[in-house]
Amino acid sequence: MSQTFVSHLECSLTGKVYPADCLQGLSDSNRPLLVRYDLAKLEKSIKRSEFIAKNVDGFWRYSSLLPVSKPENRISLGEVVTPLVPVNQFALKLGALPGNILVKDEGRLPTGSFKARGLSLAVSMAKTFGVDHLAIPTNGNAGAAMAAYATKAGIRSTVLCPADTPEINVREIQLQGAKTFLVNGLINDCAKVIAEGKEKTGWFDVSTLKEPYRIEGKKTMGLELIEQFQWELPDVIFYPTGGGTGIIGMWKAFAELKELGWIKCKLPRMISVQAMGCAPIVNAWEKGDEFAELWENAHTVAAGIRVPVAIGDFLILNVVRESGGTAIAIDDETIIQFRDDLAKDEGFLLCPEGAATLAAYHECLKKGLVDKNEKAVLFNCASGIKYPLPPVYDRVDIEGEAIDYSRFTDAI
Ligand SMILES: *Cc1c(COP(=O)(O)O)cnc(C)c1O
Repeated sequence: MSQTFVSHLECSLTGKVYPADCLQGLSDSNRPLLVRYDLAKLEKSIKRSEFIAKNVDGFWRYSSLLPVSKPENRISLGEVVTPLVPVNQFALKLGALPGNILVKDEGRLPTGSFKARGLSLAVSMAKTFGVDHLAIPTNGNAGAAMAAYATKAGIRSTVLCPADTPEINVREIQLQGAKTFLVNGLINDCAKVIAEGKEKTGWFDVSTLKEPYRIEGKKTMGLELIEQFQWELPDVIFYPTGGGTGIIGMWKAFAELKELGWIKCKLPRMISVQAMGCAPIVNAWEKGDEFAELWENAHTVAAGIRVPVAIGDFLILNVVRESGGTAIAIDDETIIQFRDDLAKDEGFLLCPEGAATLAAYHECLKKGLVDKNEKAVLFNCASGIKYPLPPVYDRVDIEGEAIDYSRFTDAI
């Protein structure tokens, strides 16, 4: 297909219209631009039963609701439709029903996180518009995905990370071809350096929501859920929220499918999960505010959601409000406890952000905000092995005395 159904871009705050046939960043009011499609035309051209190109790998199967026109500009590293993994033993332990907690394991995507979705789209569009240098501030996963896709596309890339970003992430970014720098600040400080360096360097800023296409990539999580639930949806979705691209993107997907008349079901309640050490959205939600305040001294083991200020704050809060969801913060100790427990009980190692959604599910179940009969999808946004893990101390000495085999049969 060499056409798209994109009609224009629209400021997410004011509704002002912008052309979609050239490179765009933020709107004049410094807010995210959203991609709009000619859905009436799409609906006339494609039947619902033809929408999903099942023979195409990963999210490129939904191309008629994506902005990339030429197949040769689709920058791909072998994306997959990520599985919904039931955690039944754990569900029973928490007092839920088996089959009702499904973890969408985004760690299976290229570069080990769902940042692949957004950055694949952003890089594909950058290639479409002939951009030759991309820059991004990152807590790790976005930088890794950007570096990988930019390199694949033959585009130069620069990545700035807070100095305490998990080491494995920083190193993978560098190996995947980005010029990589450690910054003595947080992600918003890195973002400032990139925004202010635009003129001097000529790079294009692909920060969260500062260009229109990462949301379109993240939207594919919602499209995949529709496919996996066969044109239905779960009752509730738990999403670990940093910049919020995913929660905004999924909601956008549902809205587009509703407008196309392709889904009739009730939409899920969207639960925004943050860490207690960095919870600007939860704070704004509890106060009933439209925008969130900058969170001072942000800290959490869940690096991917250590985002003190989100440019799409009002969009995230809107999704939570419109969907009848809520926003909830989890402390680091509980996050790690849930990660460790699930790994030991079910052999499934979540990332800390994913573990936060499991802890949040438990909180909501206890508070009656979720019913045990409801189907919940929890997002595990990255592979658990990208994060620091506890060390192993037990040793076997093969040069010493006879080995004491009773050590191996002791309980763990
Ligand atoms: C980026 C990231 C998040 C937050 O995603 P947003 O859509 O930007 O809110 C959550 N978890 C992990 C592992 C991430 O890398």
